Amino acid sequence: MTKIYAIVNQKGGVGKTTSVINLCAYLAGSGRRTLLVDIDPQANATSGLGVDKTAVPLSIYELLLEEASVDSVRISLPEFKLDIVPSSPGLSGAEVELVNAIGREYRLQKALDGLNGRYDYILIDCPPSLSLLTVNALTAARDGVLIPVQCEYLALEGLSQLTQTIDLVRKYLNPALSIRGLIMTMYDSRTNLSRQVVEEVRNYFPGKVFRTIVPRNVRLSEAPSFGQPINIYAPTSPGALAYKVLTSEILKGDQVKETTA
Ligand code: ADP
Ligand code: MG
Repeated sequence: MTKIYAIVNQKGGVGKTTSVINLCAYLAGSGRRTLLVDIDPQANATSGLGVDKTAVPLSIYELLLEEASVDSVRISLPEFKLDIVPSSPGLSGAEVELVNAIGREYRLQKALDGLNGRYDYILIDCPPSLSLLTVNALTAARDGVLIPVQCEYLALEGLSQLTQTIDLVRKYLNPALSIRGLIMTMYDSRTNLSRQVVEEVRNYFPGKVFRTIVPRNVRLSEAPSFGQPINIYAPTSPGALAYKVLTSEILKGDQVKETTA
């Protein structure tokens, strides 16, 4: 069965896109058939994998409006062994166009239904908002959400609003929705603040924070401008190592879940 995760946090700049790109890269690298779905109008995951977001013939925009099938939108990236449903700047208009559409919250879920069994993992990169686009991602995310949290002052701010949204989506749209885990990002080992933030988030979400912590690492911020995930751009960097280990942690957890299910 295909596992579908949404990577969500309505705060911008917390490491959603970085996490999606690099988790997908390591999932693919470990032999999992992997699809990245970019549902952010900023299309940073699309461009971060070297796809020109202004030149994609079809994008998630047409998919959500049911003007194109998922197979016609999907692009293969053989150099990274993964596929992507790209975004495009036009997606920002979809929100308005979908307002009165029937089943507007289920558009992505329906589109991904057609792929069932063809991928091991589908990861959805969300915009920095709790908009209809994010609700589409949460509705499609039958295996849960991954929440990147930046190791910064006020890290917890906004997370209660996020968990309320998750609760509402679970109640009305996707009964299976759960928090798969929180990913602590941009950890700076030289500061007490980073350590305190991790502790604070662990207290607030007991048992939900991944053991692997992603350090602040300049290689991770450089890689997208080369259109490459970190396993290609700088495979021995601390950032690469962190995402590699985090991927193993997620894979192991998923296996445990499957055998106890
Ligand atoms: P989001 O998708 O949540 O807006 P991004 O993944 O785009 O966040 O990250 C925001 C910025 O921080 C980007 O410039 C990205 O390259 C950089 N960044 C993300 N994670 C790290 C990290 N661990 N170390 C250094 N820079 C990072
Ligand atoms: Mg992003």
